[in-house]
Amino acid sequence: MLYTTDAIVLRRADYRDYDRMVTLFSPEHGRIDAIARGCRRPKSALLNATEVFCAGQFTINITGERHSITQCDIRDSFYDLRFDYDRLIHGIYYLSLADAAALPEQEAPGLFMLLLKALAHLAYSQLPAALLTASFEMRYMPLMGYTPQMERCVVCGREPDPADARFDEEKGGVACGLCSPNAPRISHGARRIIWRAAQTDYTAVPKLEGHPDWPEAARLYRPFVTRRIERRIKSDMPELP
Ligand SMILES: [Zn+2]
Repeated sequence: MLYTTDAIVLRRADYRDYDRMVTLFSPEHGRIDAIARGCRRPKSALLNATEVFCAGQFTINITGERHSITQCDIRDSFYDLRFDYDRLIHGIYYLSLADAAALPEQEAPGLFMLLLKALAHLAYSQLPAALLTASFEMRYMPLMGYTPQMERCVVCGREPDPADARFDEEKGGVACGLCSPNAPRISHGARRIIWRAAQTDYTAVPKLEGHPDWPEAARLYRPFVTRRIERRIKSDMPELP
């Protein structure tokens, strides 16, 4: 059976002399592990299509349990990322988070679009990578079912005193100073950034450039991601620059 789907290459590993095993992420089919036969032969049309970050329309043949890539119409390979090591590492991090989320035959159109938009900003905009990554994380986590509680204290349910509000990443949201005395403080601006991110599209990200509180929001949010997702990341994650 032959089918066509949009997808992006999350991972690849060379196999035998000329083949490659590829992990694709598709909005309709989720994770697809497929072989690209002969793609490493000289002049193979599939060589570039089986590199990580390559996004396009893939034609896949299923025989029994095996999926093989027969063709690809490349839409964007995000090739520019290879010229900037820092941005490349951030991009690999996005792929790892998508890899941790993608399951076979489980559709994930929201995550797929988020990934493509974040990679496009990373490759083609001048916005700081740390801002783009935090903005990706703050939209990725709600899609994974983890939306931090930003309006009321996660412990007592009351409105935290803005002068002593905390971000308790372990409990999953803002807290009063008395309820989570060991959690770091969070400013009103950073709290609002995290709260708004879950409700806005990724294309709203440029509005945050120059906002004084995004670095704080990014720093506080990272442990919220790590605690919940790290064990699901299959490959070794490099330290983000
Ligand atoms: Zn409280």
